Amino acid sequence: MTAPSAESVAQGFRELYGDAPDGVWAAPGRVNLIGEYTDFNEGFVMPLALPHAAVAAVSRRTDGRLRLHSADIDAPLVELRVEELTPHSDGGWAAYPAGVVWALREAGHQVSGADLHLASTVPTGAGLSSSAALEVVTAFALNDLFDLGLAPAELARTAQRAENDFVGVPCGVMDQMASACGEEGHVLHLDCRDLSTRQVPFDLAAVGLRLLVVDTRVKHALGDGGYAERREGCEAGARALGVSHLRDVAHEELDAALERLTDERVRRYVRHVVSDDHRVEQVGALLDAGDVRAIGPVLTEGHRSLREDLRISCPELDLVVETAAQAGALGARMTGGGFGGSAIVLVEEAEAETVGKAVTEAFAAAGFTAPRVFTALPGAGARRLA
Ligand code: ADP
Ligand code: MG
Repeated sequence: MTAPSAESVAQGFRELYGDAPDGVWAAPGRVNLIGEYTDFNEGFVMPLALPHAAVAAVSRRTDGRLRLHSADIDAPLVELRVEELTPHSDGGWAAYPAGVVWALREAGHQVSGADLHLASTVPTGAGLSSSAALEVVTAFALNDLFDLGLAPAELARTAQRAENDFVGVPCGVMDQMASACGEEGHVLHLDCRDLSTRQVPFDLAAVGLRLLVVDTRVKHALGDGGYAERREGCEAGARALGVSHLRDVAHEELDAALERLTDERVRRYVRHVVSDDHRVEQVGALLDAGDVRAIGPVLTEGHRSLREDLRISCPELDLVVETAAQAGALGARMTGGGFGGSAIVLVEEAEAETVGKAVTEAFAAAGFTAPRVFTALPGAGARRLA
Protein backbone atom coordinates (compact mmCIF):
# COMPACT_ATOMS: atom_id res chain seq x y z
CA MET A 1 0.00 0.00 0.00
CA THR A 2 1.64 3.22 -1.07
CA ALA A 3 -0.76 5.71 0.54
CA PRO A 4 -3.56 5.40 3.09
CA SER A 5 -7.01 5.39 1.45
CA ALA A 6 -9.19 8.48 1.80
CA GLU A 7 -11.98 6.25 3.12
CA SER A 8 -9.90 4.71 5.92
CA VAL A 9 -8.68 8.11 7.10
CA ALA A 10 -12.19 9.58 6.93
CA GLN A 11 -13.41 6.59 8.96
CA GLY A 12 -10.68 7.24 11.57
CA PHE A 13 -11.85 10.86 11.72
CA ARG A 14 -15.47 9.82 12.31
CA GLU A 15 -14.49 7.47 15.13
CA LEU A 16 -12.42 10.17 16.79
CA TYR A 17 -14.58 13.26 16.38
CA GLY A 18 -18.02 11.68 15.92
CA ASP A 19 -18.75 13.33 12.59
CA ALA A 20 -17.71 13.12 8.94
CA PRO A 21 -14.79 15.37 7.88
CA ASP A 22 -15.36 18.31 5.53
CA GLY A 23 -12.78 16.79 3.19
CA VAL A 24 -9.72 14.58 2.76
CA TRP A 25 -6.37 15.72 1.32
CA ALA A 26 -3.07 14.02 0.45
CA ALA A 27 0.53 15.27 0.24
CA PRO A 28 3.47 13.04 -0.75
CA GLY A 29 6.97 12.55 0.56
CA ARG A 30 9.82 13.13 -1.87
CA VAL A 31 13.25 12.02 -2.94
CA ASN A 32 15.79 14.26 -4.53
CA LEU A 33 17.00 12.93 -7.88
CA ILE A 34 20.03 15.24 -8.07
CA GLY A 35 21.32 18.53 -6.59
CA GLU A 36 22.41 18.17 -2.96
CA TYR A 37 23.40 21.07 -0.64
CA THR A 38 22.81 23.32 -3.63
CA ASP A 39 19.57 24.82 -2.26
CA PHE A 40 21.08 27.23 0.29
CA ASN A 41 23.72 28.14 -2.29
CA GLU A 42 20.82 29.43 -4.42
CA GLY A 43 21.43 26.75 -7.02
CA PHE A 44 19.35 23.97 -8.56
CA VAL A 45 17.65 20.86 -7.21
CA MET A 46 15.52 18.21 -8.90
CA PRO A 47 13.21 16.32 -6.54
CA LEU A 48 10.26 14.06 -7.33
CA ALA A 49 7.13 13.27 -5.36
CA LEU A 50 6.81 9.71 -4.07
CA PRO A 51 3.66 7.59 -4.22
CA HIS A 52 3.92 7.52 -0.41
CA ALA A 53 1.86 10.24 1.20
CA ALA A 54 0.32 11.77 4.28
CA VAL A 55 -3.49 11.75 4.07
CA ALA A 56 -5.49 14.07 6.32
CA ALA A 57 -9.21 14.26 7.03
CA VAL A 58 -10.01 17.78 8.18
CA SER A 59 -13.00 19.87 9.25
CA ARG A 60 -13.16 23.59 9.66
CA ARG A 61 -13.86 25.13 13.07
CA THR A 62 -14.77 28.69 13.89
CA ASP A 63 -14.31 28.65 17.68
CA GLY A 64 -10.49 28.89 17.83
CA ARG A 65 -9.97 25.24 18.77
CA LEU A 66 -7.38 23.17 16.96
CA ARG A 67 -7.50 19.40 17.49
CA LEU A 68 -4.81 17.20 15.96
CA HIS A 69 -4.41 13.45 15.84
CA SER A 70 -2.11 11.01 14.02
CA ALA A 71 -3.05 7.38 13.50
CA ASP A 72 0.63 6.47 13.27
CA ILE A 73 1.90 7.34 16.69
CA ASP A 74 0.76 6.26 20.09
CA ALA A 75 -0.16 9.68 21.42
CA PRO A 76 -3.47 11.17 22.52
CA LEU A 77 -5.36 13.87 20.68
CA VAL A 78 -3.60 17.23 20.93
CA GLU A 79 -5.83 20.20 21.75
CA LEU A 80 -4.65 23.74 21.17
CA ARG A 81 -6.09 27.21 20.68
CA VAL A 82 -5.10 29.01 17.49
CA GLU A 83 -4.50 32.36 19.19
CA GLU A 84 -2.16 30.75 21.72
CA LEU A 85 0.17 29.01 19.25
CA THR A 86 3.77 29.81 20.19
CA PRO A 87 6.91 28.93 18.17
CA HIS A 88 9.33 26.38 19.67
CA SER A 89 6.78 25.26 22.24
CA ASP A 90 7.85 21.63 21.70
CA GLY A 91 4.49 20.24 20.74
CA GLY A 92 6.13 17.04 19.45
CA TRP A 93 4.70 15.83 16.15
CA ALA A 94 1.75 18.24 16.42
CA ALA A 95 4.14 21.18 15.94
CA TYR A 96 4.19 20.44 12.19
CA PRO A 97 0.46 20.91 11.48
CA ALA A 98 0.10 23.52 14.26
CA GLY A 99 3.03 25.42 12.74
CA VAL A 100 1.15 25.67 9.46
CA VAL A 101 -1.88 27.19 11.20
CA TRP A 102 0.47 29.61 12.95
CA ALA A 103 2.31 30.53 9.71
CA LEU A 104 -0.96 31.16 7.85
CA ARG A 105 -2.24 33.35 10.68
CA GLU A 106 1.10 35.22 10.83
CA ALA A 107 0.63 35.97 7.11
CA GLY A 108 -2.74 37.51 7.94
CA HIS A 109 -5.06 34.67 6.92
CA GLN A 110 -8.21 33.99 8.92
CA VAL A 111 -7.79 30.43 10.12
CA SER A 112 -10.16 30.02 13.04
CA GLY A 113 -9.56 26.40 14.04
CA ALA A 114 -9.80 22.85 12.71
CA ASP A 115 -10.17 19.17 13.56
CA LEU A 116 -7.54 17.03 11.85
CA HIS A 117 -6.83 13.32 11.74
CA LEU A 118 -4.06 11.94 9.56
CA ALA A 119 -2.24 8.79 8.54
CA SER A 120 0.95 8.64 6.53
CA THR A 121 2.97 6.00 4.65
CA VAL A 122 6.05 8.22 4.34
CA PRO A 123 8.75 6.62 6.53
CA THR A 124 9.88 9.08 9.19
CA GLY A 125 13.46 10.20 9.61
CA ALA A 126 14.53 8.39 6.42
CA GLY A 127 15.25 11.56 4.48
CA LEU A 128 11.99 11.20 2.54
CA SER A 129 10.39 14.31 4.06
CA SER A 130 7.61 12.90 6.17
CA SER A 131 7.64 16.28 7.92
CA ALA A 132 7.00 18.23 4.70
CA ALA A 133 4.17 15.83 3.80
CA LEU A 134 2.52 16.62 7.14
CA GLU A 135 2.89 20.37 6.70
CA VAL A 136 1.82 20.46 3.07
CA VAL A 137 -1.27 18.30 3.57
CA THR A 138 -2.33 20.64 6.38
CA ALA A 139 -1.67 23.73 4.26
CA PHE A 140 -3.69 22.38 1.31
CA ALA A 141 -6.61 21.43 3.55
CA LEU A 142 -6.75 24.82 5.28
CA ASN A 143 -6.36 26.64 1.97
CA ASP A 144 -9.50 24.93 0.69
CA LEU A 145 -11.52 25.04 3.91
CA PHE A 146 -10.90 28.75 4.53
CA ASP A 147 -10.95 29.80 0.85
CA LEU A 148 -7.49 31.33 1.09
CA GLY A 149 -6.85 31.12 -2.66
CA LEU A 150 -3.11 30.44 -2.24
CA ALA A 151 -1.17 28.75 -5.05
CA PRO A 152 0.77 25.52 -4.40
CA ALA A 153 4.14 27.33 -4.32
CA GLU A 154 2.80 29.83 -1.75
CA LEU A 155 1.50 26.97 0.38
CA ALA A 156 4.94 25.34 0.13
CA ARG A 157 6.60 28.53 1.41
CA THR A 158 4.09 28.72 4.27
CA ALA A 159 4.89 25.11 5.16
CA GLN A 160 8.61 25.89 5.11
CA ARG A 161 8.03 28.87 7.38
CA ALA A 162 6.18 26.55 9.79
CA GLU A 163 9.15 24.17 9.90
CA ASN A 164 11.80 26.93 10.13
CA ASP A 165 10.17 29.32 12.56
CA PHE A 166 7.61 27.28 14.49
CA VAL A 167 9.16 23.80 14.73
CA GLY A 168 12.68 25.29 14.58
CA VAL A 169 14.30 23.20 11.82
CA PRO A 170 16.41 25.22 9.33
CA CYS A 171 15.36 23.39 6.12
CA GLY A 172 15.28 24.81 2.59
CA VAL A 173 12.07 24.95 0.57
CA MET A 174 12.78 21.98 -1.71
CA ASP A 175 10.87 19.36 0.31
CA GLN A 176 7.70 21.40 0.54
CA MET A 177 7.88 22.45 -3.13
CA ALA A 178 8.27 18.83 -4.25
CA SER A 179 5.32 17.75 -2.11
CA ALA A 180 3.13 20.66 -3.22
CA CYS A 181 4.05 20.85 -6.92
CA GLY A 182 5.06 17.29 -7.92
CA GLU A 183 3.45 15.75 -11.00
CA GLU A 184 3.09 12.11 -11.92
CA GLY A 185 5.75 11.04 -14.43
CA HIS A 186 7.86 14.16 -13.82
CA VAL A 187 10.69 15.57 -11.73
CA LEU A 188 10.58 19.16 -10.59
CA HIS A 189 13.43 21.41 -11.66
CA LEU A 190 13.63 24.06 -8.98
CA ASP A 191 15.79 27.16 -9.13
CA CYS A 192 16.39 27.99 -5.47
CA ARG A 193 17.29 31.60 -6.27
CA ASP A 194 13.88 32.71 -7.52
CA LEU A 195 11.87 29.52 -6.78
CA SER A 196 10.95 29.21 -10.45
CA THR A 197 9.99 25.66 -11.40
CA ARG A 198 9.83 23.51 -14.47
CA GLN A 199 8.28 20.05 -14.81
CA VAL A 200 10.81 17.75 -16.51
CA PRO A 201 9.49 14.50 -18.03
CA PHE A 202 10.63 11.47 -16.00
CA ASP A 203 8.15 8.80 -17.00
CA LEU A 204 10.04 5.78 -15.72
CA ALA A 205 7.11 3.41 -16.26
CA ALA A 206 6.90 4.30 -19.95
CA VAL A 207 10.54 3.42 -20.57
CA GLY A 208 10.61 0.27 -18.43
CA LEU A 209 12.63 1.70 -15.55
CA ARG A 210 12.12 1.94 -11.81
CA LEU A 211 13.65 3.89 -8.98
CA LEU A 212 14.59 1.85 -5.94
CA VAL A 213 14.55 3.77 -2.69
CA VAL A 214 16.70 2.20 -0.01
CA ASP A 215 16.17 3.45 3.53
CA THR A 216 19.38 2.46 5.32
CA ARG A 217 17.63 2.80 8.72
CA VAL A 218 20.57 4.94 9.82
CA LYS A 219 18.79 7.94 11.32
CA HIS A 220 19.94 11.17 9.81
CA ALA A 221 20.10 14.02 12.27
CA LEU A 222 20.68 17.38 10.61
CA GLY A 223 20.88 19.00 14.02
CA ASP A 224 24.19 17.37 14.97
CA GLY A 225 26.31 20.03 13.34
CA GLY A 226 27.38 18.30 10.10
CA TYR A 227 24.89 20.28 8.04
CA ALA A 228 25.69 23.60 9.69
CA GLU A 229 29.41 22.99 9.18
CA ARG A 230 28.97 22.38 5.43
CA ARG A 231 26.80 25.42 5.17
CA GLU A 232 29.36 27.62 6.91
CA GLY A 233 32.10 26.19 4.63
CA CYS A 234 30.08 27.04 1.51
CA GLU A 235 29.51 30.58 2.77
CA ALA A 236 33.24 30.93 3.40
CA GLY A 237 33.86 29.73 -0.16
CA ALA A 238 31.46 32.28 -1.62
CA ARG A 239 33.11 35.07 0.40
CA ALA A 240 36.60 34.03 -0.70
CA LEU A 241 35.47 34.03 -4.33
CA GLY A 242 33.68 37.37 -4.05
CA VAL A 243 30.21 36.09 -4.98
CA SER A 244 27.00 36.29 -2.95
CA HIS A 245 26.30 32.56 -3.37
CA LEU A 246 28.14 29.62 -4.96
CA ARG A 247 25.40 29.54 -7.59
CA ASP A 248 27.26 32.46 -9.17
CA VAL A 249 30.36 30.39 -9.93
CA ALA A 250 29.89 29.03 -13.46
CA HIS A 251 30.92 25.44 -14.08
CA GLU A 252 33.41 26.57 -16.75
CA GLU A 253 35.08 28.77 -14.15
CA LEU A 254 35.31 26.04 -11.53
CA ASP A 255 38.98 25.09 -12.03
CA ALA A 256 40.10 28.71 -11.92
CA ALA A 257 37.97 29.32 -8.83
CA LEU A 258 39.44 26.29 -7.04
CA GLU A 259 42.95 27.57 -7.67
CA ARG A 260 42.10 30.73 -5.79
CA LEU A 261 40.99 28.85 -2.68
CA THR A 262 43.64 28.10 -0.10
CA ASP A 263 41.54 26.15 2.42
CA GLU A 264 41.42 22.49 1.35
CA ARG A 265 38.07 21.88 3.07
CA VAL A 266 36.39 24.90 1.48
CA ARG A 267 37.83 23.89 -1.90
CA ARG A 268 36.14 20.47 -1.64
CA TYR A 269 32.79 21.98 -0.69
CA VAL A 270 32.92 24.47 -3.56
CA ARG A 271 33.84 21.70 -6.01
CA HIS A 272 30.84 19.66 -4.86
CA VAL A 273 28.30 22.47 -5.03
CA VAL A 274 29.34 23.89 -8.40
CA SER A 275 29.63 20.44 -9.99
CA ASP A 276 26.29 19.28 -8.53
CA ASP A 277 24.54 22.36 -9.91
CA HIS A 278 26.02 21.35 -13.25
CA ARG A 279 24.80 17.77 -12.81
CA VAL A 280 21.24 19.02 -12.28
CA GLU A 281 21.46 20.80 -15.61
CA GLN A 282 22.98 17.72 -17.27
CA VAL A 283 20.22 15.46 -15.97
CA GLY A 284 17.59 18.00 -17.06
CA ALA A 285 19.01 18.09 -20.58
CA LEU A 286 19.19 14.30 -20.83
CA LEU A 287 15.61 13.89 -19.62
CA ASP A 288 14.39 16.59 -22.00
CA ALA A 289 16.04 14.60 -24.80
CA GLY A 290 14.29 11.43 -23.61
CA ASP A 291 17.61 9.77 -22.77
CA VAL A 292 16.57 8.53 -19.32
CA ARG A 293 19.09 5.70 -19.02
CA ALA A 294 21.97 8.11 -19.62
CA ILE A 295 21.37 9.87 -16.29
CA GLY A 296 22.62 6.78 -14.41
CA PRO A 297 26.34 7.64 -14.50
CA VAL A 298 25.57 11.26 -13.58
CA LEU A 299 23.78 10.07 -10.43
CA THR A 300 26.71 7.82 -9.51
CA GLU A 301 29.17 10.64 -10.07
CA GLY A 302 27.00 12.78 -7.78
CA HIS A 303 27.45 10.17 -5.07
CA ARG A 304 31.22 10.19 -5.48
CA SER A 305 31.17 13.96 -5.04
CA LEU A 306 29.05 13.71 -1.87
CA ARG A 307 31.32 11.01 -0.46
CA GLU A 308 34.73 12.43 -1.32
CA ASP A 309 34.20 16.19 -1.50
CA LEU A 310 31.30 16.98 0.80
CA ARG A 311 31.97 13.92 2.98
CA ILE A 312 28.39 13.40 4.11
CA SER A 313 27.97 9.75 3.15
CA CYS A 314 28.29 6.78 5.52
CA PRO A 315 29.29 3.11 5.10
CA GLU A 316 25.67 1.96 4.66
CA LEU A 317 24.97 4.48 1.88
CA ASP A 318 28.26 3.64 0.15
CA LEU A 319 27.40 -0.05 0.32
CA VAL A 320 24.04 0.56 -1.44
CA VAL A 321 25.76 2.40 -4.26
CA GLU A 322 28.57 -0.16 -4.68
CA THR A 323 26.29 -3.17 -4.51
CA ALA A 324 23.76 -1.66 -6.90
CA ALA A 325 26.48 -1.00 -9.47
CA GLN A 326 27.76 -4.57 -9.20
CA ALA A 327 24.24 -5.95 -9.50
CA GLY A 328 23.65 -4.13 -12.78
CA ALA A 329 21.91 -0.88 -11.79
CA LEU A 330 22.19 2.08 -14.17
CA GLY A 331 23.24 4.46 -11.41
CA ALA A 332 22.84 5.15 -7.70
CA ARG A 333 23.51 7.77 -5.08
CA MET A 334 22.67 8.79 -1.58
CA THR A 335 19.87 11.36 -1.45
CA GLY A 336 18.99 14.07 1.05
CA GLY A 337 21.02 15.53 3.88
CA GLY A 338 23.35 12.57 4.34
CA PHE A 339 24.91 10.90 7.40
CA GLY A 340 22.29 8.16 6.93
CA GLY A 341 18.81 8.29 5.45
CA SER A 342 18.10 6.89 2.00
CA ALA A 343 19.77 6.13 -1.31
CA ILE A 344 18.18 5.93 -4.75
CA VAL A 345 19.01 3.39 -7.44
CA LEU A 346 17.97 3.65 -11.10
CA VAL A 347 17.22 0.17 -12.45
CA GLU A 348 15.61 -1.66 -15.33
CA GLU A 349 12.15 -2.75 -14.19
CA ALA A 350 13.13 -6.40 -14.78
CA GLU A 351 16.22 -6.01 -12.57
CA ALA A 352 14.56 -4.17 -9.69
CA GLU A 353 14.00 -7.25 -7.57
CA THR A 354 17.48 -8.70 -8.13
CA VAL A 355 19.18 -5.41 -7.29
CA GLY A 356 17.03 -4.89 -4.19
CA LYS A 357 17.85 -8.41 -3.04
CA ALA A 358 21.57 -7.91 -3.63
CA VAL A 359 21.51 -4.77 -1.46
CA THR A 360 19.62 -6.53 1.33
CA GLU A 361 22.08 -9.44 1.24
CA ALA A 362 25.08 -7.14 1.27
CA PHE A 363 23.69 -5.40 4.37
CA ALA A 364 23.24 -8.74 6.12
CA ALA A 365 26.78 -9.80 5.18
CA ALA A 366 28.17 -6.52 6.55
CA GLY A 367 26.23 -6.91 9.80
CA PHE A 368 24.11 -3.79 9.16
CA THR A 369 20.45 -3.45 10.16
CA ALA A 370 18.22 -4.72 7.32
CA PRO A 371 17.37 -1.83 4.97
CA ARG A 372 13.85 -0.99 3.85
CA VAL A 373 13.75 -1.23 0.04
CA PHE A 374 10.87 -0.13 -2.12
CA THR A 375 10.31 0.69 -5.78
CA ALA A 376 8.93 4.08 -6.67
CA LEU A 377 7.57 5.89 -9.67
CA PRO A 378 7.27 9.70 -9.68
CA GLY A 379 3.89 10.39 -8.08
CA ALA A 380 1.42 13.27 -7.93
CA GLY A 381 1.82 16.32 -5.71
CA ALA A 382 -0.60 17.42 -2.98
CA ARG A 383 -4.29 17.26 -3.85
CA ARG A 384 -7.80 16.94 -2.50
CA LEU A 385 -9.01 13.32 -2.44
CA ALA A 386 -12.57 13.68 -1.19
P1 ADP B 1 11.88 13.40 7.65
O1 ADP B 1 11.14 14.62 7.24
O2 ADP B 1 13.14 13.21 6.90
O3 ADP B 1 11.04 12.16 7.63
P2 ADP B 1 12.01 14.82 10.12
O4 ADP B 1 12.81 14.60 11.36
O5 ADP B 1 12.15 16.10 9.43
O6 ADP B 1 12.33 13.58 9.17
O7 ADP B 1 10.47 14.63 10.47
C1 ADP B 1 10.02 13.52 11.18
C2 ADP B 1 9.03 13.97 12.23
O8 ADP B 1 7.78 14.35 11.60
C3 ADP B 1 8.63 12.86 13.19
O9 ADP B 1 9.52 12.78 14.27
C4 ADP B 1 7.25 13.32 13.64
O10 ADP B 1 7.34 14.32 14.63
C5 ADP B 1 6.69 13.96 12.40
N1 ADP B 1 5.88 12.99 11.62
C6 ADP B 1 6.13 12.52 10.38
N2 ADP B 1 5.15 11.66 9.99
C7 ADP B 1 4.28 11.58 11.02
C8 ADP B 1 3.06 10.85 11.24
N3 ADP B 1 2.57 10.04 10.31
N4 ADP B 1 2.43 11.05 12.41
C9 ADP B 1 2.92 11.88 13.34
N5 ADP B 1 4.05 12.57 13.19
C10 ADP B 1 4.74 12.43 12.06
MG1 MG C 1 11.91 16.58 7.40
